Amino acid sequence: MPATFEALGLRPEIVRRLTALGLSKPTRVQELAIPVVMAGKDAIVQAQTGSGKTYAFGLPILSDLEAGFHPAVLVVVPTRELAGQVHDALEAATPGRKLHTVAIYGGVSIERQEKALAAGCDIVVGTPGRLKDLLGRRTLNLTEVSTLVLDEADVMLDMGFRRDIEFLIDRLPGREQTLIFSATMPEAIKVIAQRYLKSPVIVGTPQDAAPPREIRHSFLRVDREQRVETLIALLALEAPERALIFTAMKHETKRLAAKLERHAGIRAGFLNGNMSQSARNTMLARFKAGELTTLVATDVAARGLDIEGLSHVIHYSVPTVVETYIHRSGRTGRAGNSGKAILMVPPEGEADFKAIRKTMAFQEIHIERDSLPVLDVPAEPERGGKPAPARTSTRGADRGPRGTWDRAHPSQPERGRKASGDGQIATGLTRRRNNRPR
Ligand code: AMP
Repeated sequence: MPATFEALGLRPEIVRRLTALGLSKPTRVQELAIPVVMAGKDAIVQAQTGSGKTYAFGLPILSDLEAGFHPAVLVVVPTRELAGQVHDALEAATPGRKLHTVAIYGGVSIERQEKALAAGCDIVVGTPGRLKDLLGRRTLNLTEVSTLVLDEADVMLDMGFRRDIEFLIDRLPGREQTLIFSATMPEAIKVIAQRYLKSPVIVGTPQDAAPPREIRHSFLRVDREQRVETLIALLALEAPERALIFTAMKHETKRLAAKLERHAGIRAGFLNGNMSQSARNTMLARFKAGELTTLVATDVAARGLDIEGLSHVIHYSVPTVVETYIHRSGRTGRAGNSGKAILMVPPEGEADFKAIRKTMAFQEIHIERDSLPVLDVPAEPERGGKPAPARTSTRGADRGPRGTWDRAHPSQPERGRKASGDGQIATGLTRRRNNRPR
């Protein structure tokens, strides 16, 4: 019989909050991990983003924690966006708002975060750099942290945060429980686990690392010179509800978004690590609100994102490592919804694609070269003015009402043919409770 939140031993107030949020039963990773976390054991949990992993550690922590003054729980995450997202998820599930969670990340006012910390909090969710800054300024006190969560640990290591993580762990004298959550298990994670975890329970099986089954994987071969045209034709063919397009280069994000807007009338935004945090937040909010239907992003800006209704992930560049393909694709097909991941493969991406193709099944999409739109060289936008009107012509295809490939326009023809471990459960609560008065 599938588990219920009650049967997992969560406090009734938490279960009521979850019901109010529309969450009726635990996901698989929650079912496996919640008892382990509640038992106070160290654990390595292999779980995808989108599998409900935040609540797999968040719910037992919220259920067990008592309000204090200094943080008793530290969650370290790789990106600013994920810090905000985990913070919001924990706050949403906190009954009566008795526990306080503070998000700590760079690119925004440090003073405001210091103020929030000074007011007292129970859970800190932060990125490594800003956490270190606050420790250096002695405005963050981690001496009472008893539970440490390393979320998306593989991504953090990938981004070069290993030393920062070790620095932070060494500053947690009261650490009693350490939880590592990761979609993949590279060797470096095992090394960290060996060094810092006590007899960890392993939750999840290797298959759990593969993208959720609700994602359909496709690829299409493209000429490097016609990547934009092919992408426009692909978007017309797929008509995604909301699409996230990954590029390899930061500068490409803005340019490609502008081209989609100009040549196809697509409401596209862009996201990359060079943008200020407020610009990133605004762009993401517009995408989440549906004001933009397409977002062109680099990996660093898009990790850990949870975007409702994201129907398509398009890899405009072929990732050089399989893990990146898994992370990118995992943005769609979340929480049981179906999604499509489409990889655009130019001739020079064949070798990397071959490695990815070994790990999962792909269907091929064909788009005839003759049916690609012909893009005129776009006029540069006037200074301070609006971009010049689109000047796209198509061969062997209908045009949209403004001479563009507007995917909302019903007259577009079908271009091209689609070819087709369970964890051990331990007992004995050891989480230290934070009883200091607020
Ligand atoms: P995560 O893997 O933590 O990023 O979660 C992905 C999405 O799953 C979030 O939008 C959560 O709100 C949602 N979610 C988490 N737990 C459940 C659950 N038990 N049932 C349905 N959706 C859930």
